[in-house]
Amino acid sequence: MDQIRIKDLQVFANHGVFPEETVLGQKFLVSADLFADTRKAGRLDDLSCSIHYGEVAKQIDSFLREHTYQLLEAAAEALARELLLTRPLLFGITLEIKKPWAPVGLGMDTVSVKIHRSWHTAYVALGSNLGAKEQYLNLGVEHLKSHPDIRVNKISSYYVTQPYGVVDQDEFLNGCMEIQTLLTPEELLDVLQEGEQKAGRKRVRRWGPRTLDLDLLFYDKEILDTPRLLVPHPEIEKRDFVLEPMNEIAPWLRHPIHHKTMRELWEAWQKQAGENMTGRQNGV
Ligand code: ATP
Ligand code: CA
Ligand code: CA
Repeated sequence: MDQIRIKDLQVFANHGVFPEETVLGQKFLVSADLFADTRKAGRLDDLSCSIHYGEVAKQIDSFLREHTYQLLEAAAEALARELLLTRPLLFGITLEIKKPWAPVGLGMDTVSVKIHRSWHTAYVALGSNLGAKEQYLNLGVEHLKSHPDIRVNKISSYYVTQPYGVVDQDEFLNGCMEIQTLLTPEELLDVLQEGEQKAGRKRVRRWGPRTLDLDLLFYDKEILDTPRLLVPHPEIEKRDFVLEPMNEIAPWLRHPIHHKTMRELWEAWQKQAGENMTGRQNGV
């Protein structure tokens, strides 16, 4: 992706652990690579289609002067987030903050922290089969909408579906949503689980009745296998209640492991279900 680069912007600010740093202040040098699509601005020669680097430089200067952080890590994290939240065309940022006068008492050119942060696209499945199901799904949507680091792009229709795994329970209401987020997958899972708690979910048994289930289906094209998180969600291709709403909001989305689109997986699921039905009728 294209980049607009601000190099070694000088800011006099008060970040640090020692009193002389927070009271007297010192010089910082800030470099920012702003990731954005500059094609339109380039072709039209029109600043309104791009990111105004003068304004961004002023924003960096005032943000770092108006806040005080002990750590360069915290200053960089907060500044990157502020820029990503307030600059609509900014997709990602590599930000480096240097402290040339760091009080370490040794000969040293500079110390710095450099981070890369960006927006991510994720898909979340919603499910409920207990009580006021539609209200619980709406609560899940609202929970994500109200989070400052999440933007909800698309919400599918809600589908009435039959239970999966444990079948002696009430039918489900299911849907999916597409979001943009600054959160990591683990942080997003925390937010999803908070939403389930808000809906009063009690974990009784796997696949058992629940007021609200929020699963992370996809996070960019990432493949994650950790004790807490499997992404893509492992059984997407087997679940009509995920494939049908995903086919509605992102039929072109390709599964990073199976390499098939949501439309292809949904059609394959329907074909398989049709064959099973015919087999059963024929006594197979
Ligand atoms: P399933 O995951 O098969 O749909 P479930 O939704 O009923 O079953 P839960 O009891 O809601 O399962 O979650 C069990 C655990 O699954 C969670 O504590 C979480 O750590 C883990 N998990 C792993 N991958 C994911 C994911 N992609 N989204 C949500 N939870 C996940
Ligand atoms: Ca689930
Ligand atoms: Ca779950």
